[in-house]
Amino acid sequence: MAEAFRFRILAHGPAGSPVREAFTPAEPRPGWVRVALKAMALNRLDLWTTEGLPGLRLPLPLTPGCDGAGVIEALGEGTTLPPGVEPGGSVMLAPGFSCGVCPACLRGDDMLCPGYGILGHVRDGTAATHVLVPAANLLPIPGNWSFEQAAAFPLVFLTAWEMLVHKCALRPGETVLVWGGGSGVGSAAIQLVKALGATAIAVVGSEAKAMRCWELGAEHVIVRGELKALATRVRELTGKRGVDVVFEHTGAATWATSLSVCARGGRIVTCGATTGPETPFDLRALFAKQIQIRGSYMGRREHLWTLLSLILKNPTNPPFRPVIDQIFDLSEYPEAQRHLEAGSGFGKVVCRMS
Ligand SMILES: [Zn+2]
Repeated sequence: MAEAFRFRILAHGPAGSPVREAFTPAEPRPGWVRVALKAMALNRLDLWTTEGLPGLRLPLPLTPGCDGAGVIEALGEGTTLPPGVEPGGSVMLAPGFSCGVCPACLRGDDMLCPGYGILGHVRDGTAATHVLVPAANLLPIPGNWSFEQAAAFPLVFLTAWEMLVHKCALRPGETVLVWGGGSGVGSAAIQLVKALGATAIAVVGSEAKAMRCWELGAEHVIVRGELKALATRVRELTGKRGVDVVFEHTGAATWATSLSVCARGGRIVTCGATTGPETPFDLRALFAKQIQIRGSYMGRREHLWTLLSLILKNPTNPPFRPVIDQIFDLSEYPEAQRHLEAGSGFGKVVCRMS
């Protein structure tokens, strides 16, 4: 058997600072399984977990990594597996954990559970050859998808689905401005907007990324330059009305523009703040235009099954699929973190277990 190893955040530090260590994977307890990982995908949360967040104490040392796919290697005693999942079979992982017994969990809002946490953020994650997860976090891998694709799927698609479908109740024919169209969550959002019969206007940082957004189904792509010019362009594209929904995850640098390009009665939904968390804005724009602001964090685990069923309707040509930017070997995980932080790629950064 190849050596089992994992990356650990020993103390908060810059991207790329987790260190490699050998370990002996534990036996799963009842209701849990051990997965031999074949691929993992990075998310912004890997960087925030590594760097540390003000006011948040994380249980260090910790293995980062929220997304993963692999093979079930061991089951805890009496563990029941979800439909379509078998011992020894291939699985992808739902990243969220919750208690399963509180009122929020019982109505399906697991991400509102007081005990909600994310793999690789509050417990050891997927930057490792092996991971322990509850059986309820397992999903079958659709059709002919590779482990790399499966690992790149859950977190960003669940996040984008929750934002568009549940937080914003996006309707066919509406228009959505997607900031950061080349990011993992942005590239998922563009595809979901199209699949839902709405129109995506994507914002990207370069011409090369613009081409990729067209291919994903964006109706219009704006290469980001001066924000005032961008706002003017959005108004042109929407007959001066503005967009019905702004898909925000960029934060401070874009927030004022998001308000400015949002239509009367429109919605701004946000799941992140990659350019900074604090920004002043004009409350008059908010109430005069009757804009609704909605915060979103991950999504209902149930909806990964919804997304899976949409894929399985046509597995060879699904309405959406993860976009992979670059594949590293797991031993290069720190380098993969630095690549993600640099922000030059398009889509998901993945590590493969060789
Ligand atoms: Zn709960």
